[in-house]
Amino acid sequence: VEKILELDQVKKHFTMGRGQVVQAVDNISFHVYRGETLGLVGESGCGKSTVGRTIIRLYEATDGEIKFKGQSTRDLKGEKLKQFNREMQMIFQDPYASLNPRMTVGDIIAEGLDIHKMAKGQERREKVIDLLKTVGLNEEHADRFPHEFSGGQRQRIGIARALAVDPDFIIADEPISALDVSIQAQVVNLMKKLQREKGLTYLFIAHDLSMVKYISDRIGVMYLGNLVELAESQELYDNPLHPYTEALLSAVPIPDPDSKESGERIILKGDVPSPIDPPSGCRFRTRCPKAMDVCAQEAPKWREVRPLHWVSCHLYQEESLKKEEENKAE
Ligand code: SF4
Ligand code: MG
Repeated sequence: VEKILELDQVKKHFTMGRGQVVQAVDNISFHVYRGETLGLVGESGCGKSTVGRTIIRLYEATDGEIKFKGQSTRDLKGEKLKQFNREMQMIFQDPYASLNPRMTVGDIIAEGLDIHKMAKGQERREKVIDLLKTVGLNEEHADRFPHEFSGGQRQRIGIARALAVDPDFIIADEPISALDVSIQAQVVNLMKKLQREKGLTYLFIAHDLSMVKYISDRIGVMYLGNLVELAESQELYDNPLHPYTEALLSAVPIPDPDSKESGERIILKGDVPSPIDPPSGCRFRTRCPKAMDVCAQEAPKWREVRPLHWVSCHLYQEESLKKEEENKAE
């Protein structure tokens, strides 16, 4: 399967007042296969939204390379940039804040059609109506304003707007987090249906692990600007390797009490440290129940330790364990 998106050692640092540098995203590498949904999870502030925004070029990467369809996105210009801006779309957490309150829903949905000169007049109107129907709304909604809609309907409008320009790749940044639980499944089901019908690829950003399992083929886990683990969804839930993933999963309610997943709830000590001054070595070490001396000395490497199962933790690195033995012997 084609890798539609590839990230290699991507960093996004922000310089604040007094020269302080926030290491929001640090050395992240992963790829997304065409047609899949890659879930990206982690607590708020872990950098997952920054990853999404850097991929779609709302932010410029501080370092590293991002390739879309085999081409570096850094130097895109002219027609190629326009094409990229059409092929990659984003859906936001708060659909209300991202919809212009003074524009009709029809004009909001057609914005991309106008920008990319894809349709006008009657054809534009028909496309809008088509899109409204595709997301479960109807023609009469086209002439109303965003405030007249519920949260779930507004997210449908956001989806229709993204779909208007025929994208290949959609970054969904917590698209259901602001919605009632009863509405969440409807929006996720709509997204799954659209994916099947249109061959879309999703990067699905979430802080909630229960819904993300349902939609994702593979899931990446972030902590304090690092990607710490990535695996196929079922594998991640059955065999979490990273101590942070274990803790996250232990907090998810499990429908089947006999399953292997229902262990003790792991309560992490302390708070997430500041990304301005992250811990040396492994960034999770100040809270890790399994931390060793070597964890403060070196950052663990990002390794594929089983087929398609990546983790960055010294527990899974022979040479780190050897070093720890030596530490102990001293
Ligand atoms: Fe814990 Fe060390 Fe693994 Fe980090 S590298 S998660 S501190 S065991
Ligand atoms: Mg966010």
